[in-house]
Amino acid sequence: MFQFKTNHNIVYTKDKLMKAKMSTRNKCYLCKLSTHTLQHILVDCCFVQSCWRSFCTWWFIMTRVNLNLCWLSILYGYFYPCKFKTITNFALLVAKYLSYRCFLNEESLDFELYKLLLRVKVLTEQLIASFLARSDSVALLSPFLVFLLFSVLKLITYLFIYYYCCYYF
Ligand SMILES: [Zn+2]
Repeated sequence: MFQFKTNHNIVYTKDKLMKAKMSTRNKCYLCKLSTHTLQHILVDCCFVQSCWRSFCTWWFIMTRVNLNLCWLSILYGYFYPCKFKTITNFALLVAKYLSYRCFLNEESLDFELYKLLLRVKVLTEQLIASFLARSDSVALLSPFLVFLLFSVLKLITYLFIYYYCCYYF
């Protein structure tokens, strides 16, 4: 959903909220220089660029893939040919969403928190995949059970992040 909103530039940023008179400020709270636009909070802000450099270094250590992250591949997905392209785009999406949430709530960007969140998201995806693979017929799953499963996984993710933040800060 977040990528869909990004593609259509309908993500709520402070510049849009200010135009709608729902925010009194439209400046980036980290650099205090630029307007809080989607491109700024995901690509252009010097604090985000530092996180992307950390991401590329960490990604190279993990996969031996040297990413060429331009603004297009950050905003719309990595399109250059490379190994692990699907998981690369998944990792980028999680990073973008966390960055967006941090900017919106005016929290500091933390690369360690990102790695933790990515781990939880990957585990969640693996759990869903194994759950769906085990059941012979997906049609037997009632929509309520699927909703319950996703709700529980989401709750676990938020609790995990909450306890991590309490411990870390
Ligand atoms: Zn900034």
